[in-house]
Amino acid sequence: MKSLIEGHKQFLSTAFPARRSQFHLLAEGQQPEYLFITCADSRIVPDLILQTQPGDLFICRNIGNVIPRAGEPAGGVSGTIEYAVQVLRVRHLIVCGHSDCGVIRALMNPDSLSGLESVRGWLKHVEPAWGHLEEVERNAGELTRHTALTHANILVQLENLRSHAYIEKAIAEGRLQIHGWFYDILSGRIEAYDEIERKFVPLIV
Ligand SMILES: [Zn+2]
Repeated sequence: MKSLIEGHKQFLSTAFPARRSQFHLLAEGQQPEYLFITCADSRIVPDLILQTQPGDLFICRNIGNVIPRAGEPAGGVSGTIEYAVQVLRVRHLIVCGHSDCGVIRALMNPDSLSGLESVRGWLKHVEPAWGHLEEVERNAGELTRHTALTHANILVQLENLRSHAYIEKAIAEGRLQIHGWFYDILSGRIEAYDEIERKFVPLIV
């Protein structure tokens, strides 16, 4: 805890005064343009990898960057997304998975979840990712299979997103765009799903 308290002390003495006018405005309200849905993994720091500022990103995090389908019991994730799209009127919704994701590792090795009933229950939202894999990917080595499943999971979550009628409506009205991203921790690079090429391609070429 000591390092957190020291960190906050430093924030109050340097970072906050340097942005006092920005926080003054933000204290009045928020108008984020983006909803960023990503994994709870400690290595994913959206404001660092995108160089965004307080007020830029509305963020929803959970293990595996999952979006429950319409009809599932209302929960924190569904409520957060609905609020972002219907109340804050974000223009872009990004689902961002990442390399070395523990949820995908658990999907590849469900026996590792013995005694973790909540995690096992959550994993049901990720399991359809297997259905997106090509035969060659199913039989590939562990790293290739992990990446393929992570990519597939992003597509599954985008499908789940579109099962919500208000999301389809917002897209049809041209006020919302949805994006699937994959962040590689080792290289720091992001890949984005290309709907036309039907594959993940570098965000920055
Ligand atoms: Zn993860």
